[in-house]
Amino acid sequence: MAKVVGLRCRECGRDYPVEPLHVCEFCFGPLEVIYDYEEIKKTISREKIERGPKSLWRYIDLLPVERPRVGLSAGFTPLKRAKKLGEVLGLKNLYIKDDSVNHPTLSFKDRVVSVAISKAIEFGFDTAACASTGNLANSVASHCAQAGLNCYVFIPANLETQKIFGSLVFNPTVVAVEGTYDDVNRLCSEIANDLGWAFVNINIRPFYAEGSKTLAFEVVEQLGWRAPDAVVVPAASGSLYTKIWKGLKELKEVGLIDSVSTRMYGAQAEGCSPIAQAWKEGRDFIKPVRPNTIAKSIAIGNPADGIYALQTTRESGGDWETATDEEIVEGIKLLAETEGIFTETAGGTTVAVLKKLVERGLIDPEELVVAYITGNGYKTLEVLEGHMKEPVRIKASLKDFKDKVLARV
Ligand SMILES: *Cc1c(COP(=O)(O)O)cnc(C)c1O
Ligand SMILES: [Zn+2]
Repeated sequence: MAKVVGLRCRECGRDYPVEPLHVCEFCFGPLEVIYDYEEIKKTISREKIERGPKSLWRYIDLLPVERPRVGLSAGFTPLKRAKKLGEVLGLKNLYIKDDSVNHPTLSFKDRVVSVAISKAIEFGFDTAACASTGNLANSVASHCAQAGLNCYVFIPANLETQKIFGSLVFNPTVVAVEGTYDDVNRLCSEIANDLGWAFVNINIRPFYAEGSKTLAFEVVEQLGWRAPDAVVVPAASGSLYTKIWKGLKELKEVGLIDSVSTRMYGAQAEGCSPIAQAWKEGRDFIKPVRPNTIAKSIAIGNPADGIYALQTTRESGGDWETATDEEIVEGIKLLAETEGIFTETAGGTTVAVLKKLVERGLIDPEELVVAYITGNGYKTLEVLEGHMKEPVRIKASLKDFKDKVLARV
């Protein structure tokens, strides 16, 4: 695979071969996939991509797998011009990147997992696993079912019922751990080494994380090959946020766009905002927190890519903002009522944070802004209880309809 040079430690720069490794043996820094952009540049072109499959696999030249093995229709989700939401927020060129309808499990995680499981198959694993806040478990379970791999997913025991069912239906072994996501992740890191399984977000993490770049590639292509002026991205571990930035820079590196001056804005729930807090306090290190928020899909108290996310913010001229649980619910409802898109709590966080960024004057009304909606609202129905109008209950009679429904308007 000439396009991939190998893995490199983000801290000390030591090189490693393409293997299921994720930390440097010398300094414990995380490993990153390194590409030969000069080589890729020779064959990649806008036309070649546009002729490719209508999935994230059209960008395979910039992904660390030889060929897709599973998840063949992940990605290539709609980029919606959000006129009505833009009017409410005071933005004239707002777009929604809508991964609430990603295939097959309705969140952005189908991007990272289709890449990770394809890589796991390339490596010859017969069992895949993950530590998850919910969406990752759904996606890993589905992709393992597709590929015929044994599957173990580890989740915090208090997840939303819909997210637990959304894993169980694929018949993996679901391990519900009493504790937070960070407890689950620590447990998985301890067991990952011994088992010879492909833990998608542990020993396969460098490959897994690359799938997130496709959320940058697609937006740029869908905008007619230009990078947005600003994007808003919900952050848990901070991986998606940093990889969107990496993806944008790669497009410039291989000559598909001339310039990138996108400001990267990060969104976190106030009840779990270790990266946003570090940014606001001007720290370059993360203080882990104990999550307390309805936004469970992005509730990671000790974010693995937190410090790299802060670097991305500095490099791109971005910023961070947080949303309370109440504002998150308002964000979910606002997006639904203006654009007809039903997102989960992470998307509600994006919308609520975008509103605050505009209010703070950080985004100009004329700028081209993309808000990333990363998951589907049907998975977190319970957070809406008590926040919407009740159905009008009537008997099956014309009179009741007139008295109870028409009389109201
Ligand atoms: C996992 C997830 C994210 C972001 O995750 P990172 O760990 O920051 O890459 C955002 N939104 C949703 C819905 C997710 O499931
Ligand atoms: Zn190192």
